[in-house]
Amino acid sequence: MASVDVFVVASGSQANALWLRAGETAILIDAGLAAETSVRRLRAAALPTTQIAAVLLTHEHDDHARGAGALARMLDVSVVANEATLAACSGLDGAVTDRIVEEGHYSIGPFRIEAVPVSHDAASPVAFVVDAGGLRVAVATDLGSVSEAFVERGRGADLVVIEANYDLRLLDVSPYPWFLKNRILGDRGHLSNEGAAKAVIAMHAGSRQDVLLAHLSDVNNLVPLARDTVASALAEESISDVAVEALRPNRGGVRRVLTVSREASSARGA
Ligand SMILES: [Zn+2]
Ligand SMILES: [Zn+2]
Repeated sequence: MASVDVFVVASGSQANALWLRAGETAILIDAGLAAETSVRRLRAAALPTTQIAAVLLTHEHDDHARGAGALARMLDVSVVANEATLAACSGLDGAVTDRIVEEGHYSIGPFRIEAVPVSHDAASPVAFVVDAGGLRVAVATDLGSVSEAFVERGRGADLVVIEANYDLRLLDVSPYPWFLKNRILGDRGHLSNEGAAKAVIAMHAGSRQDVLLAHLSDVNNLVPLARDTVASALAEESISDVAVEALRPNRGGVRRVLTVSREASSARGA
């Protein structure tokens, strides 16, 4: 049976990295940890780093790209991103890079990856919608607002990984300076718990879905608050087939194995 194996290597303001495997091929979306730390965490989870075929970047911010060059050199794989992100990235010297071509598509092994532009204060930030073996994973961090294009592409995805950065009340009373609060709140900043809830509801297509709330701020959010905000918004819409988990900031370790149900595979014509 087709399956996609998902492992959160890191999530939060300090570092982000998401590992996906289909068959014997794995990809890493973002590499915000030091390369050695990523390798250590993958090995601790018994996930072979030799299967990693590419390191994809959503954008060039340090918490997403810090370890990309070193990791790509270490594993002898390419760093894959759009041209503006590659140009804005530091630390890629000596690493092989590959541009996302053909209107935002990239294929490697069983993966077909679509880059969808998002609104964030980076050179050319994207979300990724990844298809493999009849399964779809939609990943969006960081983003100030959710575009119709991302909702459209991610609707009905088996797994949605979406930013739930802050709770508005906690951000309001937090010690962050005003300029930083305004940056986070802005259209090119980060997504609130309420923003994530709206997106998750819009992406529900009547089938079972897993949702991982990612990139939680350790100052302006709380794990139960993020989860409950999204879960109660779903309950208000009488949606009961979406499982929501909020990722603890600056930790990794959460694992999901997605499999194609017979119903879903016939619906997708797989
Ligand atoms: Zn960012
Ligand atoms: Zn970030």
